[in-house]
Amino acid sequence: MAVCRNCGAQIGDNDSICSNCGANQQAGPAQYNNPQQYNSQVPAEDDQGGFLWGLLGCCVPLVGLILYLIWKDTKPKSANAAGKGALISVIVSVVVVVVYFVLLFIIGMIAAASM
Ligand SMILES: [Zn+2]
Repeated sequence: MAVCRNCGAQIGDNDSICSNCGANQQAGPAQYNNPQQYNSQVPAEDDQGGFLWGLLGCCVPLVGLILYLIWKDTKPKSANAAGKGALISVIVSVVVVVVYFVLLFIIGMIAAASM
């Protein structure tokens, strides 16, 4: 067994991420000297499925919102991914609608001016 270079918890010899604190075991000395800052970062390898939940939330914002509300206490990472996907989807939808109406307005102005 190896020990985490950040918090000292026992981890597997082949583990690249500490299961206790999430510190990268291949991290350089600079990151080791600054454990608090490192702890606040979410390692990409530790966020499995997050992208898919984000994608789901993006495709079906309502499902993303529901998953966020269900998971926000038990699975914060997946909840955040689903919630962010839903939020992005809603923002994109609003932007698309606004752009659509602006374009309609511009086309209407051009049509009125050319008559
Ligand atoms: Zn650790």
